[in-house]
Amino acid sequence: MGLFDKKTCAVCGGQSGVIVGLFGADLAGGAYLCPGCRNKCTPGNLNFKNMTLDDVKANMAIADANKKKGSTEFRSTRKIQTGAFRDRPFLDIDENHGWFMNTADNDGWVYSLDDIYFYGPEFETAKLELGQSFHLDTYNYPELSKCPEGIRITAAKLKILMVENELGVSQLSIDLLSGSSADENAVRGACAAIHDFAEAVKAYKTNRKK
Ligand SMILES: [Zn+2]
Repeated sequence: MGLFDKKTCAVCGGQSGVIVGLFGADLAGGAYLCPGCRNKCTPGNLNFKNMTLDDVKANMAIADANKKKGSTEFRSTRKIQTGAFRDRPFLDIDENHGWFMNTADNDGWVYSLDDIYFYGPEFETAKLELGQSFHLDTYNYPELSKCPEGIRITAAKLKILMVENELGVSQLSIDLLSGSSADENAVRGACAAIHDFAEAVKAYKTNRKK
């Protein structure tokens, strides 16, 4: 089969275009999944080559139910925001259900607070004299003042690691600064936001134990 053969999607019956077909996926047994249907699956890495058509349909049902939770059942009780995005929250939390959504990327997926096993800040720094860029990921709020001379923070992210879950997403890395706003105030805002998130997770886990 050549690179430019048209393929028919096993789920929707749509035909791939010449280029578009490259973004689809081949399933176990040689069936083909078009890019549109692939996007209706859960966001984590899926090993399509080992999945049958039934596996894909079951996965799509999980993805669809998750998105519906986000649009119909999710009730925000706490928003985490930082000055970098003005008033736009980067995380939205539903403490009653124990859910959160990544509003920075606005992907519509509903994650569970119970699935989080680690979270923390990750700062990207640049060494000014040499113009070098490298990662320093050990700064924790409020220890940021220890950042050495000649080092500038160019990115701040909130990293969230999760146990195995229905979406197959093991980690989120959420940008808290845009490149142009990495001044001292923006960095402080990002640290305060990470702190707010930590407080929210702790409060949720404490209440759940009661
Ligand atoms: Zn399709």
